Amino acid sequence: MKKDFKPAILDLGSLQVVLARHFGFCYGVENAIEIAFRAVAENPGKRVFLLSEMIHNPGVNADLQDLGVKFIMDTNGKLLMDWDELTSDDIVIIPAFGTTLELEEKLRAKGIEPSRYETTCPFVEKVWNRAEKIGKDGYTIVVHGKPKHEETRATFSHSKANTATVVVKDMKQAEHLARFIKGELPAEQFYQDFTGQYSEGFQVERDLQRIGVVNQTTMLASETQGISDYLKQVMIEHHQLGAEEIPTRFADTRDTLCYATNDNQSAVQGMLDEEAQLAIVIGGYNSSNTSHLVELCELKLPTYFIKDEKCLISEDKISHYDMHAHSEKESTNYIPPVRPLRVMVTSGASCPDALVERVIERLAEITGNEYAIEAMTEQWTEAQT
Ligand code: SF4
Repeated sequence: MKKDFKPAILDLGSLQVVLARHFGFCYGVENAIEIAFRAVAENPGKRVFLLSEMIHNPGVNADLQDLGVKFIMDTNGKLLMDWDELTSDDIVIIPAFGTTLELEEKLRAKGIEPSRYETTCPFVEKVWNRAEKIGKDGYTIVVHGKPKHEETRATFSHSKANTATVVVKDMKQAEHLARFIKGELPAEQFYQDFTGQYSEGFQVERDLQRIGVVNQTTMLASETQGISDYLKQVMIEHHQLGAEEIPTRFADTRDTLCYATNDNQSAVQGMLDEEAQLAIVIGGYNSSNTSHLVELCELKLPTYFIKDEKCLISEDKISHYDMHAHSEKESTNYIPPVRPLRVMVTSGASCPDALVERVIERLAEITGNEYAIEAMTEQWTEAQT
């Protein structure tokens, strides 16, 4: 059945909330949280560590820290403690993005079995399996992802165990890679321009002859599709391939976005068909999938990326993350004097639904519509009983 991506409209009087049809928590995040809490409950008296942030949500990570869980690394892979402090008696949880084969080995060398409390999302594993299959068929893997993101580092590690691998972060880098495919730039330059993004022993002349594209599961679907189509065209033109020869040079990979990323992005597209004065996107500031929802909204209207309801300081002032400047800032007069005011609302895959509810309640409060939301909650409760 075709999915419905039309938003829900909450009419609260002088405030109308245009709520995306799909938003928030995905299967992988729920699964990861459940396993992490179980790890704590099953191991009283033991030290429980998270290899890095569980998911990109400060609230969930703080809840785990309150239980005594400690982080080994930050999201960029920098150690926050001395690795030598770990002992075979410790419990280490692998986060939802998965981890590298190298770190798994390092844990085993310590006597810690990484698969015991592994929360790697099955949709991430699906990408690794796809990369392995294509790699074993003799193609080099091009990973569309953020090179420093945990998931891309994990995918890179798993992919390079089977075949030559290179990461491109965006279309600009894909175009740059194409210049090496076409021999327009000297091969030696590749190693400088893609430092840290290619597998050991990568040989430009040999390893750019047959390629396949996979992606970090939370990238922008349209961008991955664009990169894949572009590189396919480059191979066709450079090698002058007829239709039936294309698979010999370009592995046919449907994009490897997960269902939650797909649905949340499609629901934002559906939401953007409506009219509104501004959009609010809720999620952790280092959340990749949330940042792409922000990018989509920014194309149409003023958009504010916030982490929780406290960011809505007042009707005049908002604290929000500026993705382009990589910093949180305060803006004033973000609510225009239009009534009814229409505000689009959505959230990323690592954002609990309760947080979305609190943001809507706060919006209602600062625009003088708190009674409407109370009445709506009462009506809904009565309808359920
Ligand atoms: S966003 Fe997708 S890949 Fe990431 S944890 Fe959720 S379901 Fe898994």
